[in-house]
Amino acid sequence: MIIFPDLPDIEVEGVEVAEEITLTLRTTPPTASCPSCGTQSSRIQSRYTRKLRDLPSIGRPLRLILQVRRFFCKKSTCAQKIFVERLPDLCHAHAQRTKRLQEALRQLGLIAGGQAGADLGSELGINGSRDTILRLLHLAKQPVSAEPHVIGLDDWAWKRRLRYGTLICDLEQGWPIDVLPDRAVETVSAWLRRHPSIDTISRDGSSEYASAIKKGAPQAREVSDRWHLVKNLAGYVSVVLAQHLAQLRRTEVAAVRSEQVEQLPSKRQRPAQRRAIAQAQHARQTERMARYEHILNLQKRGLNSAEMALQLGVTQRTIQRWLATRTIPFSGPRKQRARLVDPYKAFLLSRWQQGCHNGAQLERELRAKGYKGSGRALYRYLETLELSGWPARKRGAASVSRQTVSSMKPHPLQTLSAQQATWLFFRRPEDLKQEEQKTLQQLRQASPHLEAAYQLVATFLQMVRQPTGEQLDAWLAAAQASHLEAFTSFVTGVQRDKDAVLAGLSLPWSNGPLEGNVNRFKLIKRSMYGRADVDLLKLRVLHHSTKSQDRKTRKKRRGQPAAHLKQPQSLKNGASSLHATTEISQAA
Ligand SMILES: [Zn+2]
Repeated sequence: MIIFPDLPDIEVEGVEVAEEITLTLRTTPPTASCPSCGTQSSRIQSRYTRKLRDLPSIGRPLRLILQVRRFFCKKSTCAQKIFVERLPDLCHAHAQRTKRLQEALRQLGLIAGGQAGADLGSELGINGSRDTILRLLHLAKQPVSAEPHVIGLDDWAWKRRLRYGTLICDLEQGWPIDVLPDRAVETVSAWLRRHPSIDTISRDGSSEYASAIKKGAPQAREVSDRWHLVKNLAGYVSVVLAQHLAQLRRTEVAAVRSEQVEQLPSKRQRPAQRRAIAQAQHARQTERMARYEHILNLQKRGLNSAEMALQLGVTQRTIQRWLATRTIPFSGPRKQRARLVDPYKAFLLSRWQQGCHNGAQLERELRAKGYKGSGRALYRYLETLELSGWPARKRGAASVSRQTVSSMKPHPLQTLSAQQATWLFFRRPEDLKQEEQKTLQQLRQASPHLEAAYQLVATFLQMVRQPTGEQLDAWLAAAQASHLEAFTSFVTGVQRDKDAVLAGLSLPWSNGPLEGNVNRFKLIKRSMYGRADVDLLKLRVLHHSTKSQDRKTRKKRRGQPAAHLKQPQSLKNGASSLHATTEISQAA
């Protein structure tokens, strides 16, 4: 009976099958070699019994009782007078488990984690405590990878907003190569110094990684990661969209209300003047409400009042007052001041009624006529035209408001969330379903601001998808000229990091492949019940990436195409943030 096919030097002397299976074994070679000097010896000094646990057999735990011999070393100069014969294929010296049992426990630990691995193992008859598993994991040699040339740096949260670690990925190979316990400049730069072969580093826009690279790898070219750029831009754009969608909703509600008022029995016509004032007041109030919502949004994103003030173009005190009162400030009637745009209003109105709702076009025409005011003032006026729901055809002034209101159906954009709207902007047009394309069309037509934002996003994504860095300057200029606050902030950020952004838009490298690893990482981290130490985390992550690499290779060998990316979820179901992440990385 062959029980140990790969261990010809071991003979089975007895088998006992009870709850456990016990095998009594002895070694057969007449000689053994001294572990210190390598001399073969046949002089036996004594024998003793070694007990080992092995992998279970036919569902029962397996115990080995092994007669081991001690030998005298024949070499007189050897410091080792007596030695124990080694069984390198079966077990390590002094171990209580066979190598294959240790390996099984290690695998359980790598795949399931310490405690879960121990629990799973005990179900399978592979016994080892959590501590044993962790000890085995730490003992095992870590996979050595070739010196990397192109790497990506990405952070991952031990604890959201509180503590971050760093995941380092070899972008040429597409897998993680190390895990650092934090994202501090010292830690990251020290790691970089140990890997002088690195010549290109893709990273997010954070200043920490940028300074770590300058300190630790000054030879390397910095690449601002496309994925992070797009994600960053999407954050700003979603604020713009949230503002406009909120405005649309409010206009709708106000329109319905005013219709109800007009349908009251007393049909006394109010003076047009009063209605105009009320309308202007309403527009101002709407703007303020949108601003207030914007502030709340920014606050949620973690900005302080000074940063918010900068973004919104109001004083810090105003922000603090609004946040303190937690109400939307009431704005009473205000005296109309003469504005530079006033003399052109009639012209703008007629162009608007002709159907030209393109802000940039109107601005050009107005400038040609000698308009000297700001673009922002012009857009503000266009916004009131939008809000007042001016129809494209000319109507009698008195009936305008009422007829518009009656012909208004509930706006299809009312049910759209800012996040859904953002995905419409960021996904490839050809990936959109027909109904999504329609919604996007309506969104773009809803305001010249939104159309401008859409065009900017589309051009930016084009630069990202077919890396064309040379267009960056033109894009930055266009974004600045758009008078959209959100884009102004984005432009400032890009300009601060321009070399790296240019590299990001010109070189093929991106952290895209890293993002999947960060997600897998989060899963592993969670399965460790928060007791993960970074070494173990690293071992498990590297193990998982090796496994998935193997799977890919096997699939390729079988001639199967790689699995397609998951189809983006339909907008109606409301995209979760996880899907949002995948979609953005798909977009990028
Ligand atoms: Zn020796």
